[in-house]
Parts: sequence; structure tokens; C-alpha cells
Amino acid sequence: MTFPPIRPELAGIAPYGAPQLDVPVQLNVNENPYGPSAAAIADIATSVAEAAVTLNRYPDREFTELRTGLAAYLSRDTSTPVLPEQIWAANGSNEVMLQLLQAFGGPGRTALSFAPTYSMYPEYARDTHTTWVAGTREQDFSLDLDTARALIEEVRPSVVLLPSPNNPTGTALDPAVIDALCEVIGESGILVVDEAYGEFRRQGVPSALDALPRNRNLVVTRTMSKAFAGAGLRLGYLAADPAICDAIRVVRLPYHLSATTQAVALAALRHADELLGNVASLREERDATVTWLRDQGFTVADTDANYALFGMFEDRHAVWQGLLDRGVLIRETGPDGWLRVSIGTPAEMRSFRHALLDVVKTSARKAQENP
Ligand SMILES: *Cc1c(COP(=O)(O)O)cnc(C)c1O
Repeated sequence: MTFPPIRPELAGIAPYGAPQLDVPVQLNVNENPYGPSAAAIADIATSVAEAAVTLNRYPDREFTELRTGLAAYLSRDTSTPVLPEQIWAANGSNEVMLQLLQAFGGPGRTALSFAPTYSMYPEYARDTHTTWVAGTREQDFSLDLDTARALIEEVRPSVVLLPSPNNPTGTALDPAVIDALCEVIGESGILVVDEAYGEFRRQGVPSALDALPRNRNLVVTRTMSKAFAGAGLRLGYLAADPAICDAIRVVRLPYHLSATTQAVALAALRHADELLGNVASLREERDATVTWLRDQGFTVADTDANYALFGMFEDRHAVWQGLLDRGVLIRETGPDGWLRVSIGTPAEMRSFRHALLDVVKTSARKAQENP
């Protein structure tokens, strides 16, 4: 027995996380490259000062005001309004999804997704002793409805996790698939559509929020970490049937959302339009990046998110390292041969393009010298 006496299945496992390196161009964790506006910063500072006055007291455990604010924000985008009792929030949508597994997974139950997908999902399953099953996506990273249906009927999962757009591929889910999967899953499970990048979807691609009134077992998660330019704030949330929110209450830690988190999130919501103000230009930059990469002969997955998965590289690690040596940090993730780049400012994307061409040219020259 070695010390510390950790659960055997966790022994020797490296904690999840992209390298946090201090380099000039950081395009590795899909953050919004634009910081908050001066007006938002001022409102956040005032709100924190007001919250500080009562920091000797525990915060509102039910975060009522924040739930109302988040419901109003989501309702801007839906035909049927989302109600405050349909909202749950936690410290990032990762915590929201872990709580979902705590409440709806567990020993003897199964969580399911389709690879390649977000690498945190199997960790929620592991940490809650839930059996993990991963089906596969098609060659173009889309989800085939018949394949998905067959696997769901076979393993009868209590939680199905599907990001839309998918990370790391950028693929959005066909809205017809959502209704169909909710039906196959039935009342013995829930479908979690992880819309961490939902605000970046292309015009005309609907949100899964529209399917909520038709499906009691549907959960849509969102976050302030990406389009909302609030990765440092740690606020994620979901919209679902109120009974699902009630179930999460049983497993959440008391007062899990601090008074300062609630105050900052409310201030951020008041400045939603400013914080989301760069989404349109990030979308344009994304489309331009995809076009440029394809023009250079790279393969690029269709993307509705603020990143692009591109390849194929015989030695992707060498390309990743070559970019890093030139001050550009991207992400070595996804199936072998692919790399993922987050969409930054026009200047950052210019650096990325120059560095990538240089890396490719240098490696071609080396190959010629040492065939
Ligand atoms: C970034 C991301 C999240 C959001 O994580 P937070 O905990 O809210 O910061 C959720 N799902 C996917 C697929 C992501 O890429």
C-alpha cells in the first residue's frame, strides 16, 4: 500500500487540464479574447463592495435573484419563456454537470456520450462511480441518429451527455436529433445538451432551449466562461424541468455559490450586451480562419464554436511544439493527427497563421535535408 491511501482507480492519474503557460498568444482553452468593458468592470467592483458588507453571513442558498436574471437572459432567445424555477447554477458548468451525475448517475447506472467529445465527461462518471460508455461519431464528427438510438436502447443510460457545438470538433447537433433522443431515453434517463459554446452557433442553428417545453427529460447547460467573457468568474447554469433542479438540491453543498460570485454574475448579466458584443466578430474570424486553413490544404471540421479542429498531421505534437516555440499556444486534443485552435483577436490569428506556415515550411525543409 502506498501513501496517500487514494482510491486504487485514481492512483497515478494526472489531473485534467491544459498547460497554463505564459506565452504571448494563448489560443488553447477557448476563452473569449476580449476582456470586460470599463463599465462592466466598474459595476462588478461596486457590486462586490456591496456584497462584502454582509460577508459575515452565508449567501442566499437559493440564489433567487441570480436565477431570475439567468431565466430572463435565456428567455431573450426562446419562444417559450424560461422560468426561474427551471434554472440551476454552480461554479462553472463543469460543477453543474458533476452535480447532475451525482444526482442521476451512481453505482449500477450508466452515463453515455459519443467520441470524440469533451474529455471531462468520463471524469464525472468516474468520480460518481457511474459506468461510462462512449459510442462513436461519424467520419465528419456528426452524430448518426440510428447509431445513437441503438446504443441507448442497448445500455439504457440514466445520463446522456452531448455538447452542441461539440468540443473539440465544433459540430452542432441536429435539432431533430434532440427530440428523437429524448424519446428513446424516456423517463428513466436525462439528455444533457451542453451548450457551453451555444452563443457562437451559426445563424439559423436553433438552441436546444426551444425543445425544453416538449421534453421533460431534457437539460440544457450554459456557461459564462466562453461567449460571455467570464471564464474567471466560474459561473455555469442549466435550464430544465423544476423537478430536475429540486433533485440537484439534494446533492449540492450548502451555500455553494458565494455571495461575491452571485454579485459578480448579476453585474455581468446587467452588461450582457457588452460582454457578448464581440461574438459576431469572433464568428467572422472563425469562418475566415477555417477558410484560410482549407486554402492552405488543411482538413478542418465544420464548426459552430469559437475554435477549429484542423489537421491532419503525422506528428501533431511536433507542430504543437513548433507553434509554442513561436509564442503561440494551441491545444493538442481530439483524435490523433488533429489540433484545436481557439479563435482570438485578428492580431492573434495573424500570429497563428504566420507561425503555422513557418512550422510547416521548416519541417518540410528538414524532411528534405534528412530524407
Ligand atoms: C469550456 C466547456 C465547458 C464550460 O466549463 P465551465 O466549467 O463552465 O468553465 C463545458 N463544456 C464544454 C464542452 C466546454 O468545452
